[in-house]
Amino acid sequence: MFTLKLDEIPEEGLELEWKEERASLLAYLKDLSKIDFDFETSLQSEVKIKKAGRLVFISGKVQTVLRLQCVRCLKEFSYPLSTTFELTLYPSIEAPSEEETELGSEEMELNFFEGGEIHLSEIACEQVFLEIPYQPLCQEGCKGLCSICGKDLNLSACECVKEEWASGFSALNKLKLD
Ligand SMILES: [Zn+2]
Ligand SMILES: [Zn+2]
Repeated sequence: MFTLKLDEIPEEGLELEWKEERASLLAYLKDLSKIDFDFETSLQSEVKIKKAGRLVFISGKVQTVLRLQCVRCLKEFSYPLSTTFELTLYPSIEAPSEEETELGSEEMELNFFEGGEIHLSEIACEQVFLEIPYQPLCQEGCKGLCSICGKDLNLSACECVKEEWASGFSALNKLKLD
């Protein structure tokens, strides 16, 4: 994992590029995400870092290809991911008290900046984490699997579809009557 000491950042700022391999990415992200996923490529990160007084500004870009599983048809598919981000890191002393901070991005940011070190790998991983879809779909409007016979409805329809629709329809009618 890649960390940077504050003293290593010159007055004019710093530009960095690095790669993060699959194993270390998974080790970090498995704890965070409840969604099953894998990496098809390494994570490429580039950041610009600048100090301003006691604050540190970071802007950058992360890029990778994820392997996700569709929540509807359970097929695995490639998910290219590329995102830019901007962060402001505050020294821990100036961190807002716990009551003021809701568990969220701010708390994460504080963790990135400990003991005069900036945890760049964690910052990059966090950006990926934020971009993982909550309910991955192999394609927009994936028809999913039939809940009765288990057939992939993207490939062809099945006999059960009609009944399912019919029973759903009568349930709707009942609701209207009530
Ligand atoms: Zn699907
Ligand atoms: Zn079916």
